[in-house]
Amino acid sequence: MTEILESRAYTELVRKISTKAGFRSRVLGKIDFNGASIPILSLSRKTEGHSPRILIAAGIHGDEPAGPHAILSLLERFPDDWPEFACCHVEIVPLINPTGFDLRQRSNQSGTDLNRTFGSPTPPAEIRFLMDDYRRRSVDLFVDLHEDVDTPGFYLYELSPSESEAFGPSIISALRKAGHPINESSIIEGMAANDGLILRTSRPIPRTFRKGAPQGLYLKKLGANRTLTFETPPKLPLDERVAMHLLSLRTVLSCWNP
Ligand SMILES: [Zn+2]
Repeated sequence: MTEILESRAYTELVRKISTKAGFRSRVLGKIDFNGASIPILSLSRKTEGHSPRILIAAGIHGDEPAGPHAILSLLERFPDDWPEFACCHVEIVPLINPTGFDLRQRSNQSGTDLNRTFGSPTPPAEIRFLMDDYRRRSVDLFVDLHEDVDTPGFYLYELSPSESEAFGPSIISALRKAGHPINESSIIEGMAANDGLILRTSRPIPRTFRKGAPQGLYLKKLGANRTLTFETPPKLPLDERVAMHLLSLRTVLSCWNP
């Protein structure tokens, strides 16, 4: 897969491919950058009736390209290669931080880490667009695609209803079976980890996020039953990181079995 380096080229391509794949695309808002106006897209594909809803987000950190590219790869082979999605409504926000993507940096053009600002009373424009949209309906399952420059292998965060219901162990097992490296450290990012999984089951959700929160916690507060955050190692080739995200996503869907 050829890496796309420009948010406008990326967004145009996503718009084209997603239409072919049967998604409706909406512009949540636009960000002014270098004299241009870059749209932040949301894609949706509905099934019949009251099906559960999955939301997949990527590109909130601009220097983590595997997530947005995994979305492209998913859309290119949709729906034929993804029968797992047949039973649910799918929503995708493919690139949350276009200016960070263009600048190859974690934060947006103003230097703000967007993934710490959900629920704040005065969020940056990118997050205000998302919050206005997310508040209209709840999602059942949320998946956030990230990368971590410090990690030697894949790991994930999961907010699960209980330990026995966690999807994480199945995801790790599928990745290991496919030959991908796993971060086996017992402490990752200062948190206790077990075989690549940082699991929370009873984390109290604050009533308000005065300073802002990560996206997963915000969606949990809005009613998501489960949230998952994947982290891939940027030291590996892009194709392999994309494959790790997609295999993890496929495993989530087979565990979920709505
Ligand atoms: Zn990240």
